[in-house]
Amino acid sequence: MSNVAKAQPSVSWGRPDTGALLLEWWDRERRDLPWRTPAGCAPDAYRVWLSEIMLQQTTVKAVIPYYERFLARWPTVAALAAAPLDEVLAAWAGLGYYTRARNLHKCAKLIADAHGGRFPSASSELVKLPGIGPYTAAAIAAIAFGEAATPVDGNIERVVARLFAVTAPLPASKPTLRHLAASLTPSARAGDFAQALMDLGASLCTPKRPSCLVCPLQMSCAAHAEGLATELPRKPAKADRPLRVGLAFVALREDGTVLLRRRPEAGLLGGMLEVPSTEWRDALPPLDQALRAAPVHGQWWAVPGTVTHTFTHFRLELMIYRAVVPTETALTFWADPQRCRWVPRRALDSAALPSVMRKVVAHGLREQ
Ligand code: SF4
Repeated sequence: MSNVAKAQPSVSWGRPDTGALLLEWWDRERRDLPWRTPAGCAPDAYRVWLSEIMLQQTTVKAVIPYYERFLARWPTVAALAAAPLDEVLAAWAGLGYYTRARNLHKCAKLIADAHGGRFPSASSELVKLPGIGPYTAAAIAAIAFGEAATPVDGNIERVVARLFAVTAPLPASKPTLRHLAASLTPSARAGDFAQALMDLGASLCTPKRPSCLVCPLQMSCAAHAEGLATELPRKPAKADRPLRVGLAFVALREDGTVLLRRRPEAGLLGGMLEVPSTEWRDALPPLDQALRAAPVHGQWWAVPGTVTHTFTHFRLELMIYRAVVPTETALTFWADPQRCRWVPRRALDSAALPSVMRKVVAHGLREQ
């Protein structure tokens, strides 16, 4: 039997008052988040958009300080559009998935230049903007503009899979889950309903230990009735992330500056700053060959220990080499001098360095 076919009779579990029950719960229990407006106040599309972009792939806890700093510095989409990209990337440093920051800036400029500083209100228009996919478009349209759109991310997929006891595994069940989520969405208060689903997934219908006993939807939940809550949604087993390795070169000039290089615009950590390194491969080349990739000639020595970092698709282990060089040292061909700059140590904190490179700098500069 297809999953949709199995799910349809369960709509009777989603009793007609599922939406009302959820909203009633949310009116009492909603999370107080800095991007949310008090009940009865109209949300600001800029704040909704900014928070939704930051929340992609990131936790609420990690996002809050970034959101507050961004909003204090760039209180409107016009202010963000007018900011240099470098400053936006530097303010984003540490939040990860840096393409989001580049698209954030591109989108702000487009809104300011081509849309008169106002976000389009329809999800079908929002989804055409840089960095806005179907989930984010639906979230902005529902929350900021009241469109009866249903944003469906991993959290909402989990809640819906349980409410309707969808046993087909992800990702094949995604269309079914989107369809079922849409079937629950009320035409009034669609934005509140979306946020209520988000909050239910974050606070009660959690991945490992759902709190069914205090859940407002318990009576409507097929997975709870069938004792399947902790098993759903089903997912294929995760493949192990492969390991890549490399050598990173922390070059410290006698004037107290450190050599950083801008990464290419496209690809991983695009446009962010880095400590120059060898390519990240499955295995290290012989040491004399790896050291030829150093960005300056000098006495390179290995800093004990390694720096490790986990990206979405691989784990990285870097050995760190360090050298102190005279101020007038020339860069080698391998450094790609056009992309390099010497940055004072005191300015490293505010540089657009992603987390992995912050670890490399800290490891490379620590006192031995
Ligand atoms: Fe999730 Fe349990 Fe509530 Fe069902 S009853 S929605 S499984 S918390």
